Amino acid sequence: EFLINKGYFIKVIEDLAQMIEEKRDYLSGLDSDIGDGDHGINLSIGFREVMKNLGDWKEKDLTFLFKKMGMALLGKVGGSAGPLYGSFFMKFAEQAGGKESVSFVEFYNMFKAGIEAIEMRGKAVVGEKTMVDALRPGLDEFTKSMAEGAALKKAFERFVDAARQGSEATIPLIAKKGRAMRLGERAIGHLDPGAASAVLMLEIFYNNL
Ligand code: ADP
Ligand code: MG
Ligand code: MG
Repeated sequence: EFLINKGYFIKVIEDLAQMIEEKRDYLSGLDSDIGDGDHGINLSIGFREVMKNLGDWKEKDLTFLFKKMGMALLGKVGGSAGPLYGSFFMKFAEQAGGKESVSFVEFYNMFKAGIEAIEMRGKAVVGEKTMVDALRPGLDEFTKSMAEGAALKKAFERFVDAARQGSEATIPLIAKKGRAMRLGERAIGHLDPGAASAVLMLEIFYNNL
C-alpha cells in the first residue's frame, strides 16, 4: 500500500514555517482590517518556536512530532488562531498512531480529527466568518472524494479547492465569532485572516504530495 512518510511531513513543516514568514505581513494586514492586526505575527511566533525544536522532534514518530508542534502553538501563541491550530495538530498527531508513515485513509483521518478539534474548541460553524468557513467545506469535499474512490492527489486537490472557495466566501460576511464580531457590518468586504491562513497551509500539504 502507498504510504505518506515522515520525510513528507517534515518538508511540509519546513515549508509551512517559511510560508508563514513570507505571508506574515499579508496575514497581519488582513487582520488589521477586521481584527487587531496580529494574525501573521501570532503564527510567526508559533512557527519560529516549532523550527527551533524541529531538529530534535523529527527523530521521533509522527505522533510525537505533531503533538510537540501542537503544544508549541497552544503554549507560545496568544490569541485565537494559535490555540485553534494547536488543537488541530494535537488531534492530527493522535491519528498518526505513533507511526513514521501513514496510509491515505489515515492521512484523511488526521485532517478530519484536526478540523473537528478546531470546531469543538472554537464552536464556530460555517457562515460565521472564521477559518471553519474554509476548513469545513474542504473536509466535506475530501470526505466525498474518499467515498468516490478518488486518488490521493486528486482528493486533496478537491479539498484545497473547496477550502479556497469557502475562504473567499467569507468576504461578504458579518462575523459571528472572534474579534471581527465587534465590527458588525464593517466586516463586510474583508477576507477572514484565519480562513486565508488555513488555505495557505493546505496548499503546502498539497504541493508536497
Ligand atoms: P486574535 O483574534 O485573538 O487576535 P488571530 O488574529 O491570530 O487571533 O486569529 C484570528 C482568526 O482566528 C480569525 O480570522 C478567525 O479565522 C479565527 N477565529 C477566531 N475565533 C474563532 C472561533 N471561535 N472559531 C474558529 N476560528 C476562530
Ligand atoms: Mg488578531
Ligand atoms: Mg490578537
